[in-house]
Amino acid sequence: STAAIEELIIPPVQVNYTKLLINGQFVDAASGKTFPTLDPRTGEVIAHVAEADSEDINRAVSAARKAFDEGPWPKMTAYERSRILLRFADLVEKHSDELAALETWNNGKPFEQAAKAELPLFVRLFHYYAGWADKIHGLTAPADGPYHVQTLHEPIGVAGQIIPWNFPLIMFAWKVGPALACGNTIVLKAAEQTPLTALYVAKLFHEHNLAKIQADAMPEHYEAELEINDFPQNARWKAGLPPGVLNIVPGYGPTAGAALARHMDVDKIAFTGSTDTGKVVLELAAKSNLKPVTLELGGKSPFIVCEDADVDKAVELAHFALFFNQGQCCCAGSRTFVHERVYDEFLEKSKARALRRTVGDPFKKGIEQGPQIDGEQFEKILRYIRSGVESSATLECGGGRLGSKGFYIQPTVFSGVQDHMLIAKDEIFGPVQSILKFNDLDDVIRRANATRYGLAAGVFTNNLDTANTLSRALRAGTVWINCFDVFDAAIPFGGYKMSGIGREKGIYSLHNYLQVKSVVTPLKNP
Ligand code: ADP
Repeated sequence: STAAIEELIIPPVQVNYTKLLINGQFVDAASGKTFPTLDPRTGEVIAHVAEADSEDINRAVSAARKAFDEGPWPKMTAYERSRILLRFADLVEKHSDELAALETWNNGKPFEQAAKAELPLFVRLFHYYAGWADKIHGLTAPADGPYHVQTLHEPIGVAGQIIPWNFPLIMFAWKVGPALACGNTIVLKAAEQTPLTALYVAKLFHEHNLAKIQADAMPEHYEAELEINDFPQNARWKAGLPPGVLNIVPGYGPTAGAALARHMDVDKIAFTGSTDTGKVVLELAAKSNLKPVTLELGGKSPFIVCEDADVDKAVELAHFALFFNQGQCCCAGSRTFVHERVYDEFLEKSKARALRRTVGDPFKKGIEQGPQIDGEQFEKILRYIRSGVESSATLECGGGRLGSKGFYIQPTVFSGVQDHMLIAKDEIFGPVQSILKFNDLDDVIRRANATRYGLAAGVFTNNLDTANTLSRALRAGTVWINCFDVFDAAIPFGGYKMSGIGREKGIYSLHNYLQVKSVVTPLKNP
């Protein structure tokens, strides 16, 4: 209806970039093949995107290799790299609305979330790593003899990066920001479900026309730029990223992704996705050239509501911890442990909250939940809901699809969930909250840790001792106390156990993209 259309807040957005980005140029796949990318609201095709396969990965890796070996990227001053990252971030900021719209269109997440949370986080992340670029250096070390010892922190080379579909832009930022700050070159495989925003931002990265950028986008403080930077030797690179530094290859996992993971000329691989695929990537890296691997994988994070909790606040936070981004978060608080003293009240209010959750077209104002990403995830979630019912957890609300087109699922709450049930063990990756009862801290610590995962945990309490005890006892890469999903650029993120290897963001991510070289020289006059 007209009324419904008026409520839509979609800014105009066009799909301009659908090819592979190799060596600074948009090109077709060697095979000429394309694949459709879909609108999760309807399942309809948004665009056909060039489909990379091993030959394209070879081309992209060669371009990245050349850009690394011959420069200028790793050899230019760190300050200059930093400036390029800053300019890029500003350009993204300028184009935030289109990018948020494209992200919502391709992924289904609420536009308001993309525009108000994810784009600012993206920009902030690049500002953060731009700040690191010229602060990366080694040290001098003492030796037991007459030697001068220094360490050089060098970029590792060509980084292969494979990202998932749940936060296409944020995952791009977490991977690309630190790798470029350290002076690496990149071949990034976007998820097959969501290739569009990676191509768009990569195009912005290559914007060379500084005058155009300035007229178009630059805040005032950039006006001095032309003068400061007008050294002839820098002239060619002063605005955009040099070709070959960042190559984007959309395509499928077992073809394009695997070709990247096993490539002999890729020096490092970073992967975010499921634990099963993470194992494949690690194996491909081991079987090829032993490239170091960082993995950010699945989770089954506990959210622990202690007996002293303000129930209304705990309900709201636990709800957010699980339902945010349609439940499609690797760190989702997907086991809600509630102390028996507050259990009944918590349950009733959680159910009421889930029933109030606004689900619908993610471009509409006030919508909290859009569709799931695709038919495969949609079916998988519905299977888990059936399994919950069959294992005799109590279905408090939801449990089915919403509407008749697209991939919408009703906010679903199970109570009486037992640790052994599949819905308490497996990552569902959907809007399905499982509520479990506990009676004391030792009990909940043991049960919260009884999982193969260890990505994150939430704790809700006003008791300092309880908070301290739980934050030390929980085996997880992040413990959020009285908050959840806080993703500042400086906060490291990653998993214990089968949730991954290594940390992203913060200072820790730099280590993933640097080699340490020891240089030792004898001292003539010690
Ligand atoms: P999800 O369930 O989130 O789709 P995946 O782990 O399958 O999880 O996907 C995450 C990323 O890994 C995507 O970019 C996907 O294309 C890629 N991928 C999937 N299979 C492989 C594989 N065998 N080798 C390398 N990458 C893969």
